Formats: sequence, C-alpha cells, structure tokens
Amino acid sequence: MNGLMMQKQLLISSLIVHADRHHGDTEIVSRRVEGDIHRYTFRDCHRRSRQMAGALTALGVRPSDRIGTLAWNGYRHMELYYGVSGMGAVLHTINPRLHEDQVAYIANHAEDQYIFFDLTFLPLIKAVASRCKTVKAFIAMTDRAHMPQDAGIDLLCYEDLIEGSSPDYAWPDLDEQCASTLCYTSGTTGNPKGVLYSHRSSLLHTYAAALPDALNCSGRDVILPVVPMFHVNAWGLPYIACMVGAKLVFPGPALDGKSLYELLEAEQVTLSAGVPTVWQVLLTHLEQTGQEFSSMARTIIGGAACPPAMLRQFQDKYGVAVLHAWGMTELSPIGTVCSMKPKHWEMSYKDRLTIQSKQGRVLFGVDMKIVGTDGRELPWDGVTTGDLLVRGPWVVREYFRSEGGNPLQLDEQAQGWFPTGDVATIDGDGFMQITDRSKDVIKSGGEWIGSIDLENIAMAHPDVFQAACIAARHDKWDERPLLIVVRKPQTDLTRDELLAFYEGKIARWWKPDDVIFVDAIPLGATGKILKNRLREQFGEYLRERAVVQCAPLAKRSD
Ligand code: ADP
Repeated sequence: MNGLMMQKQLLISSLIVHADRHHGDTEIVSRRVEGDIHRYTFRDCHRRSRQMAGALTALGVRPSDRIGTLAWNGYRHMELYYGVSGMGAVLHTINPRLHEDQVAYIANHAEDQYIFFDLTFLPLIKAVASRCKTVKAFIAMTDRAHMPQDAGIDLLCYEDLIEGSSPDYAWPDLDEQCASTLCYTSGTTGNPKGVLYSHRSSLLHTYAAALPDALNCSGRDVILPVVPMFHVNAWGLPYIACMVGAKLVFPGPALDGKSLYELLEAEQVTLSAGVPTVWQVLLTHLEQTGQEFSSMARTIIGGAACPPAMLRQFQDKYGVAVLHAWGMTELSPIGTVCSMKPKHWEMSYKDRLTIQSKQGRVLFGVDMKIVGTDGRELPWDGVTTGDLLVRGPWVVREYFRSEGGNPLQLDEQAQGWFPTGDVATIDGDGFMQITDRSKDVIKSGGEWIGSIDLENIAMAHPDVFQAACIAARHDKWDERPLLIVVRKPQTDLTRDELLAFYEGKIARWWKPDDVIFVDAIPLGATGKILKNRLREQFGEYLRERAVVQCAPLAKRSD
C-alpha cells in the first residue's frame, strides 16, 4: 500500500520561491568585480533569476542543456544557480583556476551551450573560445557600460539579457531526479570527472547540511562563503541560505586577508566557510594588524585537514568556534561534520580539541565504513586505519558520460559503496578521522606514517606558515617523510629547531628525515596543497642527499 501524501517534487526553484515569500527582504551583499559593493534582497534575486530563465529560454536553451559559468561568488552567479537549474537546464560551474587546456576539455566534455563569465576571466575566455566547440555564445556578467571593447569574440551582455526579459516566467514542475548541476573533480590524476547532481540530491543535502549538528544554519545567521561557488556549490551554502533565510555575503574576487576581514566586519558575518589555506592568510593578517572579530561566531573548515594549531588560534584567540567538516565533490560535498556530543563537553578542553581535530560524524543520510585491503569491514576503535567507503542519496553513482568507469563497480571490494580514496579511523562514537589520502600515505619499511599528523605538528610551531609532508624515496625504508615548509615572514626557524619540536609528540621513527624550506608551496585549483607536484620536485631528495652526505639513517627500533 502506498502512502497518501502529496507527490511534491524536491526542486531547487522551490528554495528561491521560499526565500522570496518568507525572507523576501533578507539581503544578499556582494563585492563585485567592478570594485563596488552591491546589495539587494532575496526578492530581487528571485525576480532576476526568473528573468534570466526567461532570457535563456528565448536563446533556445532547453531542459538538460549544460550552461557553464566561470565566476566568483556574487549575486549574478547566485541568479544563475537558480535561473539555470530552475528552468531544467544544468548549471555547470567551471573552476577558473584550472589550466586553460582543462577548461576547454571540460567545456567540450560537458557540451556547454553557453558560458557566463566574470570580467576577470576575459583573458581565459579569449584563450579557450575557439576550442569550445559546442558553445553558442559567451555572456559577460556585467552591464552595458562595462562591456569589454574589442574582445575579438562575440559577447552577450548579462544585464541586457535580464532587461529584455519579463519576470512573469513561471518555474516548471520538473521531475526531482533531473540533473541540476554539474561539477568536475580537480583531476590531479587523469582527466577531470563530472559529478552530476540532481534536484533531489541537492535538496536532501541542503536539508541535512543545515541541521544544528551539521552546519547549524538559521535565519539569524549572516553567512559568508569563502569557498567558491565554482567548487561543489560553495559547500551548498547558496541553497542553505535560501532554505533558512540567512543573509548572504559574497566576497567576489577579493580573497586577501584585508578585504575578507573588512567585509566580515562591515556585514557583521556570523558564519564563514573555507579551506585551511584561506584561513591561514586571514589569520596572518589579524596577527599583523592586531585586529579582532566583532561578530564571527563560527567557521567551517574543510577541504583539507584543519591543523589543531589553527583550531586553537580561532577558538582561543578570537573566540570563533571551529566546525571541522569533511567531504568531496562526489558527496555534494558534505559527508561528516565534527559536532560535539554532550559527553565531549564534560571532557577537558585539551581532550575536546583532540576530538575536534577529527573530521567528525556523518550527516543523517550518509553511511560510512572502513575496510581493509581484503574488503572486510574494520572495527570502529579509533585506532585501526582502513579505506573509507560511503554511500547515500547525495553520493555519486557514476561519473558524467561514464568518464573513468563506474566507481562503484571498478572497485571489487566496494560493492555499491563509493571508495573515497581516503584512509581513516572511526572511533566508538562514530567520529571519523582522515589519516591520509591513499595516494599520499608514506610507507616506511612496510609501515604507514600519516602525513597529516606530521603536518599538524609542524603547523603548531609559531614560526611555520605552511607545511606539507611527502613520501620521499629511500634506499633502505622505501619511503621516508620529508617536510616542506614555508616560514612566517621575519622568522629564521632552522631545520634542527623544527625537528626538535617533534620530540615527544610522536614515535621517533615517524619524525621527518629532513626539512626543506621554500618560499611557496604549490596549491591546486581548490586551494589545496599539490602533493604530487612536491613529490615530483623533492621525491628523490633523500636519496640524492644520501649520496652527497652519507647521512645516518633514521632508527626504527623505537
Ligand atoms: P572538496 O575539496 O570540496 O572537499 P574534492 O573532491 O576536491 O572536494 O576533495 C576531496 C578530498 O579532500 C577528500 O577526499 C579528502 O582527501 C580531502 N578532504 C576534504 N575535507 C577534508 C578534511 N576535513 N580533512 C582532510 N581531508 C579532507
């Protein structure tokens, strides 16, 4: 017997309809590429999203057509989030930090019909335009007065499209299983792979991610997503804000410490979200200026492990609670959030920090387990490490156009679970901790050394700005940890001082064999450290050093 409840489809358009009806005067504030601050309301955003949907229909866009964007976090991008998906087309957010060859590859693979771009990315558009075979026109996200002259390619003007279109457009009743959004993984190995979200998966993710034990968002919040809208839907925050009626603040291209701080303060932001490398820049700015936050209550840190030193700095020095989260493009993206349970509040602060450094527990909807190389499930004891598998209604089943094969079938052991490529422990309370990405694990004499632990210790040193630990090849132990470090400005930390800092904090054989100081560590398109690049550069360092100095080998007896 079926239930007798309404068959209302879960649609992205319903989020902006809700925001308009119930939070119509709530603001969306954006720093524009034109340089100024723009402000309007959810009601304005809804009207212009409908106008954009009407304009796209007039341009001949049909359901399921892919529409690309190369854009920062801003109100026009938000209008496309709703206008494109709401009309039944597929919003394809392209990461503009990718190499132009990859941008062209992705646009062709997705068969984008139109590409919208912020003026910042005009040089990129010029570089790829002739290679984008399916694109009918490029649309500059600006008004007539700012349209580029002599671009050399035919461009449409965003504001002209809006002005020429009526707000009478009515959102269609779509099937909730329809594709809504397309986002490609960074492709550090092989070609980028497209993850195609549906209206249903996006709505379920929005409900779950907004909950108090997840990102804890409400209409009382002012949310500034630093995490880009071109990267997994800014972790779902543009959808969540509509669902709960939170004011949104978009930073545009200005992601330096000073600009971010000014915007956080001016708009009295309560909640922000980003990867550790962005926060490191902001914290350095605060240290240098002595400034403090007057409104920020919480920050979500994810995309890479949050070093405990960063956690403490936010919480102890600035009174900002850190929510450590883990996810992937393939998970829409949120899988776990480190939200304390009542018993953790009875612990000492030191012990609680140990829990907070974990990636946390699953949102309802996501199921996870760790398995050994034989595919057998491993115990949740907080110590045993294994390959992390997940499943759930917002987890990828298959990549777009089957690129790279079906992940659920490729891995024989997985059997209907998605293999994340992460190595993790899970404790008795269900708190998961990533010890490494499987491809970054250091295997020394057959034993695993977790690079994240070693990086976290280095990051706790007051003179370290950034640290990455890689597996360097070693004649005796196969691989040994090698630390690559960027010092903070005006500090002169030495190799020996930093290695001495490890004493007593880990087993001695885990201690990095050497430290290399560099001016900058290469970051990928999503702001994460590119360890494969570091391995290419420094992978042979220990062997070469051994030849030159015949240095003593690290003892593993302890
Ligand atoms: P995103 O950066 O949006 O999370 P990606 O698909 O680019 O998505 O990268 C996902 C990978 O990033 C994960 O498989 C994991 O290795 C790493 N990652 C994400 N969050 C964390 C975290 N909190 N701690 C450690 N690693 C993380």
